[in-house]
Amino acid sequence: MDSNKRNTCYNMEAGAQQPTSLPNSIVKYERSYNVRLCGLEKLHPFDARKWGNVFEHLKSKIQLDEGCIFLPKEASKEELLIAHSERYLKSLKWGCNVAKIAEIPWLVFVPNAIIQRCYLRPMRFQTNELAHKVMIVDLDAHQGNGYAKDFKGNENIFIMDVYNKNIYPHDLEAKEAIRCKVELQHYTADYEYLDEVERNLERSLSSFYPDLIIYNAGTDILDGDPLGRLSITPKGVIKRDQIVFMKARERSVPIVMLTSGGYLKESAQVIADSIVNLYDLGLITKK
Ligand SMILES: [Zn+2]
Repeated sequence: MDSNKRNTCYNMEAGAQQPTSLPNSIVKYERSYNVRLCGLEKLHPFDARKWGNVFEHLKSKIQLDEGCIFLPKEASKEELLIAHSERYLKSLKWGCNVAKIAEIPWLVFVPNAIIQRCYLRPMRFQTNELAHKVMIVDLDAHQGNGYAKDFKGNENIFIMDVYNKNIYPHDLEAKEAIRCKVELQHYTADYEYLDEVERNLERSLSSFYPDLIIYNAGTDILDGDPLGRLSITPKGVIKRDQIVFMKARERSVPIVMLTSGGYLKESAQVIADSIVNLYDLGLITKK
């Protein structure tokens, strides 16, 4: 495929994306991504309106307008069954199960109809179809475990994961699926972090040639994040995203960026600043 026709598709959520039928460079966003639970969502450390906040920042900084957005559709049951069992989907009809899976205990007190409409529906909008030969570059502070188990033994999926080894989930089984693993100590700072990211990404891309990179760009690596416990500055996050996009661009590989974890209010601003930086460098365009 001609590199100019490949997509550099920006995705502000935790789903995947098909790379072949979209305009050259876009933001994928839908208002429904944002979780609204009568204000209760503010009780959770995760900023449940992060995507809306990122979009507001981008509107003012690079005049991103509605015409630059690719509107996702809500995943159908058939699509969800590609990744989940019927039994699992049925279990989500019980508030206590959703509360356990989401690690939000107070959800058990919320009527199920509201959980379906206000919590699970946004996630169905955040979900989309997967591509073929894929490299997952997981730079969220946590070790990836759900998708790692799903793709264990799959030769078409290469997982590179850079994470704080001293925090959740310590999942030994999932670790076996990681083909390039970088384990960090608490409070690792910019210099060491960026060096590890750059060297290992280069090494990974020299041994596996993906059709698509799914970039898990968690901002819970930020200094002060209560869950990530690393010490990366906002500038470090912006530089990290730049490194990943440049490596993808050098090889003409399309990339989907998922904003993932990030439990500080400042995360939305840092994500927006990073997108502006990529835009200023010509690594992404508005249309
Ligand atoms: Zn995380």
